Amino acid sequence: MPKIENNIADVSKRIDQSAADYGRDPNEILLLAVSKTRPVEDIRQAMGAGQAHFAENYLQEALDKIAQLEGENLCWHFIGPLQSNKTRNAAEHFSWVHSVDRLKIAQRLNDQRPESLGPLNICLQVNIDNEQSKSGFAADGLLPIALQIAKLPNLRLRGLMAIPRAEISFQKQQAAFHKLAQLREQINQSLDNSEKLDTLSMGMSGDLEAAISQGSTMVRVGTDIFGKREQK
Ligand SMILES: *Cc1c(COP(=O)(O)O)cnc(C)c1O
Repeated sequence: MPKIENNIADVSKRIDQSAADYGRDPNEILLLAVSKTRPVEDIRQAMGAGQAHFAENYLQEALDKIAQLEGENLCWHFIGPLQSNKTRNAAEHFSWVHSVDRLKIAQRLNDQRPESLGPLNICLQVNIDNEQSKSGFAADGLLPIALQIAKLPNLRLRGLMAIPRAEISFQKQQAAFHKLAQLREQINQSLDNSEKLDTLSMGMSGDLEAAISQGSTMVRVGTDIFGKREQK
């Protein structure tokens, strides 16, 4: 089996094993292949393993790949920093945006989402460890903003996303993901049944097991599928 297909099989096994370990239904955990910096040929290899969900960080790079793979029935997720003057392309070409980190970005995506595509799925990115270097909403004070964003008609607020500080200790990894899961609980208590958040976008190559133990529904895996990236 070619390498990328093999890697996807390995990552899928890790997901299934963690689901079994923590009493989760493996069908509730979606694997996103993070294809940033990777050529279209790598994406095609992943498709050969049945992979349909791809996540990208850099808008222009993503648009080029999406154009090249048009008609392939893939689902594209945007997970990178989004400047407000670039929201239109994200609203027009993606099914999901995981990295909404300001109210203004949500409003622009809402205004720019073509009606023909239906509501854009979004997650709010939370700066769960309060790191200076990372974007995202602070957990404190997120509730009223989330309730406001949940009302935007052309968006569907699905959940929360975080990129915790890289930790070696499994317990520390779990602690950060636990905070995000609790925050979702807190927001859900204030939402109507039809609006409840069903998504926790958390877990990457190095910490997906800890994320699954705390309720992750989407893991975003790059390195362990495509190999180590060159520094951009
Ligand atoms: C790059 C990236 C990933 C993938 O990280 P790996 O460690 O390569 O699996 C996941 N999420 C986000 C937001 C990223 O930028």
